Amino acid sequence: MLKLYNTLTNQVEEFKPIEENKVRVYVCGPTVHDFAHIGNFRTFLFADLLRRYLKFKGYQVHHVMNITDVDDKIIRKSVEKGQTLREYTQIYTDYFFEDFDALGAERPEEILRATDHIPEMIEIIKRLSANGHTYQSDGSTYYRINTFTGYGKLSKMNFEGNVTGASERVDSDEYEAKENARDFVLWKAVKPGEPFWETDLGQGRPGWHIECSAMSMKALGETFDIHAGGIDLVFPHHENEIAQSEGATGKPFVHYWVHAEFLMVEGQKMSKSLGNFFTFRDLVEKGYTPRAIRYLLLSAPHHKQLNFTLEGLRGAESTVARLNDFKLRLNEAAVEDGETPATAELIARSLKRFEDAMDDDLNTAEALAAVHDFVRETNSALAQGSLKADDKKALLAAVDRFDSVFSIFGEVKKEMLDSEIQALIDERQAARKAKNFARSDEIRNQLTEMGIILEDTKDGVRWRRK
Ligand code: AMP
Ligand code: ZN
Repeated sequence: MLKLYNTLTNQVEEFKPIEENKVRVYVCGPTVHDFAHIGNFRTFLFADLLRRYLKFKGYQVHHVMNITDVDDKIIRKSVEKGQTLREYTQIYTDYFFEDFDALGAERPEEILRATDHIPEMIEIIKRLSANGHTYQSDGSTYYRINTFTGYGKLSKMNFEGNVTGASERVDSDEYEAKENARDFVLWKAVKPGEPFWETDLGQGRPGWHIECSAMSMKALGETFDIHAGGIDLVFPHHENEIAQSEGATGKPFVHYWVHAEFLMVEGQKMSKSLGNFFTFRDLVEKGYTPRAIRYLLLSAPHHKQLNFTLEGLRGAESTVARLNDFKLRLNEAAVEDGETPATAELIARSLKRFEDAMDDDLNTAEALAAVHDFVRETNSALAQGSLKADDKKALLAAVDRFDSVFSIFGEVKKEMLDSEIQALIDERQAARKAKNFARSDEIRNQLTEMGIILEDTKDGVRWRRK
């Protein structure tokens, strides 16, 4: 039985979907004003792991992710570039999905753009107004939070004794003219030179929070199973989503709220504003493989912060290379017909340990430990030559089962071009002539790591791919 830590109840709970075999999941997607960094991808890969594990458990998954394609930064940057919102955001949306796919994340069943759902947002705001939750000021519409008794139930913040009349910046929306500092904007009146939509609420554009209430309920219904995102979205974003959705429908919005902890750098959250970030592309340019980045980001359970270092990434690089090599060797092992009870026992034990770990609030560290022990034990059986044909088939099927969740055994070697290989070999020959054996060994090791085998023959050095 899968158990998940639910931010709403502050407890690890047994997961029971509304419909027996189907799970409806909404994940807050990227704001497409720039390249995403690998901190963002920690959260998206966590969502990928969650969806894959739900499928592993036999559920049919309907996973929805939005694209936030309108906000202050996007407007400013697109205006600077003389592009429409759509032209500007399409560029970063495409980059985002290039990275997303390369990191081995499965595409959600639905990917929805905020700007395609303005009518749905207006509809919810109208329902909120009818229920007495809104007020207007200077052409903008605000949510009056003290009309919603459950306000604060997700973040466990206490809003009694709020300062009224104060104006404070609590998220990416800029506040003015609010009655209460914590009230938030649902619909923003147009400002000169900015793009706007013509609606019953006047000319303007949506606040950030209303986007997710509108898109999630449109795609998944007024009550659905799981809502996920990074931990920084708990307040105010998700708290406000609850106020909007439940304030409009009177029904519980989401049963399980799950949040991924931060990717950190030297004790601080990786973030654009601190400048302490790597994009996926930065790391690929440095020669790291997507598979290792994926491994590293998934290796710590989502409820723990993960400290990012290049040294850690190098470690992940050798781990995924070892896993890949193991799979290749197992595939190629020559075996005789038959099967052994020891292999059946190893597979059953390893899969159970893996599943118990993942059931325990997706404890990836323990699940990966089960995978590594399985690899180690299979390696010694391979070395002893004790495996039979049915064992091999069953072991490969077990690898696929683990990999349906983690996707880390796959191809990881970056192919080197023939010309690059030849250039390195030439450099090695020159180093040897100059008696610089340290450099010549270094090059040989580098080539070995890339799967290139060197043979010294009387006609010179030949090379082949492993
Ligand atoms: P954004 O594109 O800024 O809307 O963020 C996309 C997602 O990345 C959100 O779910 C954030 O909570 C998440 N996020 C941002 N920074 C980090 C970080 N350092 N570690 C993990 N998740 C993060
Ligand atoms: Zn959201």
